[in-house]
Parts: sequence; structure tokens; C-alpha cells
Amino acid sequence: MDRRRFLKVAATGAVGAAALSVAGCEQAGVMPPGQVEGAVSEDSSLPAIEWQMATSWPPALDTIFGGAQTVAKRVEAMTQGRFKIEARAAGELAPGLEVLNVVEEGAVPIGHTASYYYVGKSPITAFGTAMPFGLTSRQQDSWLYEGGGLEMLQEVYAEKFNTIQFPAGNTGVQMGGWFNKEINSVADMEGLKMRIPGLGGQVMDRLGVTVQVLPGGEIFQALQTGAIDAAEWVGPYDDEKLSFHKAASFYYFPGWWEPGPSLEIQINLDEWNKLPEQYQEVLKTAAYAANATMMARYDAKNPAALSRLINDADITMLPFPDDVMKAAEESAFELFDERAAGDADFASIFKEWSAFRTAIQSWHGLAERGYLQYVGQSR
Ligand code: CA
Repeated sequence: MDRRRFLKVAATGAVGAAALSVAGCEQAGVMPPGQVEGAVSEDSSLPAIEWQMATSWPPALDTIFGGAQTVAKRVEAMTQGRFKIEARAAGELAPGLEVLNVVEEGAVPIGHTASYYYVGKSPITAFGTAMPFGLTSRQQDSWLYEGGGLEMLQEVYAEKFNTIQFPAGNTGVQMGGWFNKEINSVADMEGLKMRIPGLGGQVMDRLGVTVQVLPGGEIFQALQTGAIDAAEWVGPYDDEKLSFHKAASFYYFPGWWEPGPSLEIQINLDEWNKLPEQYQEVLKTAAYAANATMMARYDAKNPAALSRLINDADITMLPFPDDVMKAAEESAFELFDERAAGDADFASIFKEWSAFRTAIQSWHGLAERGYLQYVGQSR
């Protein structure tokens, strides 16, 4: 893109807006809404665009729905209001688990969602969010941005879903969720009805769990009424907001199926191709901003929520028993081999992903883990 030209246009727009604003105030005292914007658009070669964004999230979650809002706010700020995106709650433009479907059809130009909600369409969508026993948030970003992961996934998204996607948020290692009874061994998982999406759900299925996928806004009621026995969402801050501690007593960790899940914006490819190159760059940059901001927000908000849950809620917090972790890990890697045998795209991405995972876990297992282990046990 011609970056110098873009900066010049952007600067002219800002100066124009300021000058008009002063003139308007002097003449009429009050600026009619939209007057400045219209004037700027007339001066600019960049089009005025308004998009509605479908999301999978309840707006009460300023963390995850906040990721969608960050994208919208950054895009609007970087285009002096010429490119507007409105993030809409799950269910307003599309059901929470059908965002990719409406983006693929072109009914909605952009969505913010978790790609693994769509593993039924293709197992490769799991890589876009999280693989069980996979990558932490930093490792996931490293693989997507610098390890070739995003490029590989974008090729498949373009071909299969007529969509282009960019990471736009991460939660960090999740909690293992809420259970209405204590889990002492893998045998206690048998017959449980649990809300858990993605390949993690398919692993749970192999452990005898009856798996359901519900959008975030529908979990509490299902757990409280006993329609399900267990549910996972994200971690202390979100889970407390959704009141899961009032519906189940046992809170497990870690969420081995989501060690660093990415959320993403998904854009219909025809709509993407119609955008000026400058707006494409703005969207990419806004997605980067959302990716960093969401992770920082979760890390800033989770500690206090964890403390409240430990001190004020009548719950028991426990690690998954070792045999659950081992059985899950074994089932996960069996599942990966089966998916690779049945899907050529999955096989080729899995090969690259596995090599990346082995290498980065070896590196992070040294200084990173050594440091965290030390400070975790010291004052
Ligand atoms: Ca989760």
C-alpha cells in the first residue's frame, strides 16, 4: 500500500474536521450530528462504509465482547469515522454459534467468534482457536504470526468458507470448568452432560462425556436447571460474571483443551476484496490491537475475580486428577491422528503445528518455566 499517501489523506481529514468543527460552532453554536463527517468524506478519496459485525458473545463480557468492540473502535479512529463497524451481541444478527455461516454467505460482512465452534464444517478450524494440549497464548500468536500458521489457515478459509480471518483476542490458559460433583478419577466423567466445544469436546466424548455446545449466554440456565452437569467457559472473571459459581460447586483446572485460544475476526472474502487497501491494513491493525488488549484485560481482571471466588463463593477449586489428564492427552493425540488420516488439510497443518509445538515447548520449558516455577513458590 502507498503508506505515505494514506498518512497524508488521514492528516488532511483530521485538520479538515477540526477547522469545520470550529467554523460550525461559531456559526450555529451547535454542530448538527454528521455534518463534519459528511464534509470529510467529500474531501477524501476513501469511501464511507458502515458494517454490522455478528459476534458469538453476550455484551456483558467486556473481555471477549470487548475484543469485538476494540476492532470497531480502532477501525473508526484510524479512518476518522469513515469506516464504521458496529459489534452486535450474539443472537442479534446470527445465533452465537453461526457467525461463520452468515459471514460465509455474505449476509453479514464481518464476525467476531471462535473458529472451533465450526469444527463440524472442517476440523482445521480447531487450529484457529485451540488444540487440546496445544499452545499457550504466546505460543499461539508466535505460530500464527511468525510460524506460518495464519497463512496456512487463511488458504483453507478462503477455499472452504470464502472468508479471511485474523486473530483478534486471546483468553490465556482457561479453567477446566464447573462440575456439579467431585471428579476423583476418569471413571467419574462417564455419563456427565457437559458444555464444551471444539476438539476438546470430541476428546471428552471419548472419555464417556455427553457433549453439548451452547453459546456463552445460554450456559448458566442449562447448568442451573440441571439440563447439563458441567460446563466450561473461560476463567474466573467471565465465569463469575456469568454466575456459574451459583449453579455448580466444583471448579476444576486447568482447561487442557484451551491453553491459549485465539478469537478471530472473520470477513467475507468478496467484501474484503472490495475494501480499499488502506482499509484492509486498518482492519489488520485493529485486529492486532484487539488481540493484545483482550489478553491484557483477562490477565488484569482474572486475579481479583479468582480471589473473590476463593474467599466469597461456596465452591471447591481442584486440579483435574492425573488419570483424567493422562487419559485426555492420550485420547487427544489419537483423535489428531484420526483427523489427519481423514482430512488432507488437517494432516498438512498438523505436521507443521506439531513441529512448532515441540520446538517452542522445549524453549519455553527452560527459562520461561524455570522462572515461573521459582517466582510461583517464592515470596
Ligand atoms: Ca472455553
